Amino acid sequence: MSEDTLFSRIVAGEIPADIVFQDDRVTAFRDINPQAPTHILIIPNKIIATVNDVTKADEATLGHMFVVARDLAEQEGIASDGYRLLVNCGHHANQEVLHLHMHLVGGKPLGRMLSTKVRESS
Ligand code: AMP
Repeated sequence: MSEDTLFSRIVAGEIPADIVFQDDRVTAFRDINPQAPTHILIIPNKIIATVNDVTKADEATLGHMFVVARDLAEQEGIASDGYRLLVNCGHHANQEVLHLHMHLVGGKPLGRMLSTKVRESS
């Protein structure tokens, strides 16, 4: 069994969160430190630490996360203007919580994906 994570405790209802969607496979809740008017995290209910830990058996759940993201973008009123879906993996991407999560960010122009500084140093 995987160790509990901050996010698995949100799934279990042990830690409060502003949950905007939940079913048997995924949970979506508002980011505690939003970077844009809409900033929602969509996570598998099952603990998958990082993208490196994804297996073939996770394909349906991971695909479902995109469908939920599409529906939430529509619900938030940001679908037509556009939004960003982002998944950080590991140290270089500054992944803070070791429970795979998709950021749904939108509601304002988001600029380029990476800052100039990061692109120049990579
Ligand atoms: P990442 O850097 O991709 O691992 O993103 C982790 C995200 O989790 C950050 O955007 C945090 O603001 C967010 N976060 C951390 N703790 C909580 C929490 N208790 N509820 C909601 N979002 C959280």
